[in-house]
This record gives sequence, C-alpha cells and structure tokens, in this order.
Amino acid sequence: MLTGSCLCGAVTWRLAETPDHATACNCTACRRYGSLWGYGYENEDLFVDGPSGNYVRGDKELAFHFCNTCGCLTYWRGVEPGPDGRRRMAVNLRLAEPEAVADVKIKHFDGLDTWRTVEREATCVADMWY
Ligand SMILES: [Zn+2]
Repeated sequence: MLTGSCLCGAVTWRLAETPDHATACNCTACRRYGSLWGYGYENEDLFVDGPSGNYVRGDKELAFHFCNTCGCLTYWRGVEPGPDGRRRMAVNLRLAEPEAVADVKIKHFDGLDTWRTVEREATCVADMWY
C-alpha cells in the first residue's frame, strides 16, 4: 500500500500497491502542475478522501482535484466512468513520503505533441525529486 497527503492533511489518497512507474507528462496542464502520476481505478485499487475543489479542462474528460485549504494538486479523476463502468484516476505521487516512492521508475509521456511514451534512459522518482 502507498499513501499520500496534501500539505495540510485534509485530502489523502491510497493506492493498493506501489506503482511500477510514475508518469511525467509535458502536456499544458501537467507541466505546470509538476505532477508525477500513479494510475488506478476509483475504489478498486485507488482511494481518495477529504474535501477537494477541481478544475475541468477544455475537453472535459478529466478533472484535476486540489485541496481547498493548502492548494496541493492531489489527483485527477475521469469525469465519466469508462464503458465498463470503471472510473480511471491518477494520484499525484509527489504527495507520498519521499522514501516510499524513491525507486519508482519514471515514464516520460509526451502529452503535448505525440501522445506517446518517450523512450529515455530510465530514471526514478529520486532523480527528479532530490
Ligand atoms: Zn491541504
């Protein structure tokens, strides 16, 4: 299990397993937020708690949630469930304790242009964080 919390502790998330990778995306939203994403499905392997505000982007496919008190970006949530009824989400791994995610490999995703994973020499969260 892996947990994360915003700075003030009002919003928390929990993943059933530590993810095998963290996604660093360069899209117009993610590059500004500086987030590292760990993915899951709501109330299956990913759980969130606490009051949050949210911002829905132009295409209205997902909402970025943040703490109303301290402002940390905590997770994104699919606006609609998928065809199978499951709701895709991702948590911001930056909110985990550093040692808990230090060895998680980074996957670079080009969300700005090609919408593809960019092959790079593997780096881990610790390389981007410390
Ligand atoms: Zn907070």
